[in-house]
Amino acid sequence: MTIHGLSPETVAALEHALGQGGVAIDPAGMAKYLVDWSGDHRGEALAVLKPASVTEVQAAVRLCGTLGLAMIPQGGNTGLVAGAIDIGAARGAVIINLERLNRIRRVDADNFTLQADAGCILQHIKDAAEDRDCLFPLALGAQGSCQVGGNAASNAGGVNVLRYGMARDLVVGLEVVLPDGELWNGFSGLRKDNRGYDLKQLFIGAEGTLGIITGVEVKLFPRPGKIETAYLGLPSFEAAIGLFQHARRECSDLISAFEIIGAECMDLARLADPKVVTPVNEPVHALIELSSSSAVDLRGLLMDFLAGALEKQLVADAVLAESNAQARAFWAIREGLVEGQAKRGYHVRTDLSVRISDIPTLVDQARQFVAQKHPGWISQAYGHAGDGNIHFNVLPPLDLAQADARARGAAITAGLYDIANALGGSISAEHGIGRTRQHAYWAGLSPVHRRLASALKDALDPDGRMNPGCLFPATETLS
Ligand SMILES: Cc1cc2nc3c(=O)[nH]c(=O)nc-3n(C[C@H](O)[C@H](O)[C@H](O)COP(=O)(O)OP(=O)(O)OC[C@H]3O[C@@H](n4cnc5c(N)ncnc54)[C@H](O)[C@@H]3O)c2cc1C
Repeated sequence: MTIHGLSPETVAALEHALGQGGVAIDPAGMAKYLVDWSGDHRGEALAVLKPASVTEVQAAVRLCGTLGLAMIPQGGNTGLVAGAIDIGAARGAVIINLERLNRIRRVDADNFTLQADAGCILQHIKDAAEDRDCLFPLALGAQGSCQVGGNAASNAGGVNVLRYGMARDLVVGLEVVLPDGELWNGFSGLRKDNRGYDLKQLFIGAEGTLGIITGVEVKLFPRPGKIETAYLGLPSFEAAIGLFQHARRECSDLISAFEIIGAECMDLARLADPKVVTPVNEPVHALIELSSSSAVDLRGLLMDFLAGALEKQLVADAVLAESNAQARAFWAIREGLVEGQAKRGYHVRTDLSVRISDIPTLVDQARQFVAQKHPGWISQAYGHAGDGNIHFNVLPPLDLAQADARARGAAITAGLYDIANALGGSISAEHGIGRTRQHAYWAGLSPVHRRLASALKDALDPDGRMNPGCLFPATETLS
């Protein structure tokens, strides 16, 4: 008899290595690990393994190797591209979820670093940094659920990239269990270390295809004493980018976030919270955040900038937050619209990037493409525009059947990728490739890029057991 494709002997061996609490094979125990945050992607697994220590991760990986099982590393499952679940179910795999490996190992406020198990929730890391009067600046809507190991594996971005960079810029060291079960300890605590290859960078953004990250050391920063936020109204995306370019020069490099939201997205924010009141009424909204130490007159700086911008008609309307609560309410609009989208159901979701100055063209061309070729579908444009990153999403008509919407959605996605590619942009600014974009990604690579990527994969994971079907189309990974 087999249990979900695993023999009783295999299950017994896994339970011996991880304890009964470390192995889920029943449908109820596995259910929450088989659906992603959006509910868009549902997958299959032979079992869900939940190691509680680095040694248990090694034991699980070695056992999977012996048993010939493929492995899918999983963090908070908030990635939006099906990297952490097997939606293909072609080969059968076990999920290795890191949620029980969740200890903050050390906060070193003198050296501005923090070391944690990979399964720590991002918000817990941010809180631990704040307790020591420090800032861990990675900030994204999913921070209450995503894990720092997942953030490293997906090279997460978020709203503060403009000032502090992506996860790649924030990681000082990593600890990784390799596909053969060996442990690579890449912690040195050093910010500068030019001894040859920087191996940690291989695993950052690799989406779990080269090994399982078990520990992460990140950079901390002094906690800003002051944060000022303003909500702006503008006539167009072009005007918003023009304003950003001015703000970048005139706010002494103290901008920590600059988000643009097309006013059409307000309906989605209201889906998440019907009481939402938008502070401005223009066709394009922007959120600007400045942060600094207490020594700087940040409010004066932002007020002067906005007064000048209003006078020169660079901005049509501006509301400066008078309290932390008001600033939080501004951000709730930005975060709420993402929730509202998920509530509405299936939609085309992209995270495109182009040169910052090309954003207005990208949005114009994408809107025209949708209006002309896919009437009835509703364009939504918003994103971390200060980094050239726009989420151009498209909502299906409400009366369209799911299957039809998904088929048409695939064509719309391809059209949007063509527009971004023609502008020299990227089809993935920050969410990664996963299992939803691997064909478009692979098709866009040069032969030499493919050869290098395949060589790397084959060198570290010669049996192709680590997250097959993610990043690489399945056949490309098998040597
Ligand atoms: C509301 C919302 C807002 C978001 N906003 C942003 C945003 O602003 N910027 C952004 O970049 N992303 C954003 N995301 C996407 C997502 O939150 C990030 O990609 C996040 O970093 C994923 O972390 P996770 O722990 O959930 O990883 P998962 O989704 O579990 O996994 C993501 C990938 O990493 C791999 N992986 C996970 N853990 C490990 C590990 N320990 N070792 C090796 N591989 C591993 C998985 O196999 C998978 O390929 C958002 C998502 C949501 C739902």
